[in-house]
Amino acid sequence: MPLAELHTPLLVAGFVTAAVVAVYLSFVSAPYGRHARAGWGPTVPASLGWLGMEAPAAVLPLVMVAFGERRDVVTFVLLALWELHYAHRAFVYPWTVRGGRLPVTVAAFGAAFNVFNGWLNFGWLTALGPARSLDWLLDPRFLVGAALFGVGFVVNRQSDAILRSLRAPGETGYKIPHGGLYRWVSCPNYLGEAITWAGWALATWSLPGLFFFLFTLANLLPRARSHHADYRRRFPDYPPERRAMVPYLV
Ligand code: NDP
Repeated sequence: MPLAELHTPLLVAGFVTAAVVAVYLSFVSAPYGRHARAGWGPTVPASLGWLGMEAPAAVLPLVMVAFGERRDVVTFVLLALWELHYAHRAFVYPWTVRGGRLPVTVAAFGAAFNVFNGWLNFGWLTALGPARSLDWLLDPRFLVGAALFGVGFVVNRQSDAILRSLRAPGETGYKIPHGGLYRWVSCPNYLGEAITWAGWALATWSLPGLFFFLFTLANLLPRARSHHADYRRRFPDYPPERRAMVPYLV
């Protein structure tokens, strides 16, 4: 069966998997960072793990656009948005992580997801979805989506930078972060990530984009709740008004 015919069934399977992952991660925290624990197999230095996990998300869409049949301006603009996030995440972020190790299983699952997700999104954008004229770049769905993408990108980067500033080189351990959206939530980096992919879903107006947004929520909302509970356990003076990921709500 040609890959194109597998796109819809695999997309449906992706939505089902997102629901399963949301339930699973509500009971079992992914075993890395502050939730790392024995029993998840061999580990690699975190920088290497992040690079291996995220590089497919940066490289595969580039290859798909370069060799795809649809190389118009709209596709290039959407690719540029994607790479704004993933070129940094794959090739810069790993070298900013301060120490730590990542289980190979987590990195392998992340890499497999990134291949699947990159193929779903760019298979649709470069071949299976509708070709779009330049008018799409003035469509309110694109404009609002691109603005949200930008807001999410800034919030995610600013929040990750605040976390990074909490440790001196070689230091481990956790402190209470302050500044930016930490005033309202424990994990504004995850909130920024979710806003980014909500923007992507709107700007592409596509089911693969919606899938990525929902999967991000399925992954990061339970993890934000685990982080939040961990902060409260560690720090009796943790700001009581902070929520886990969404101000005033969750
Ligand atoms: P975390 O917030 O758990 O950790 C980010 C970094 O900051 C880690 O190096 C961590 O160290 C350190 N850190 C966290 N809290 C503190 C603290 N209180 N004091 C000192 N250092 C701290 O994020 P993740 O590692 O889960 O994710 C990293 C990035 O990747 C985020 O931007 C996230 O949005 C993105 N991501 C996106 C996903 C998606 O589904 N699209 C999935 C997963 C991540 P340590 O590792 O030792 O805890």
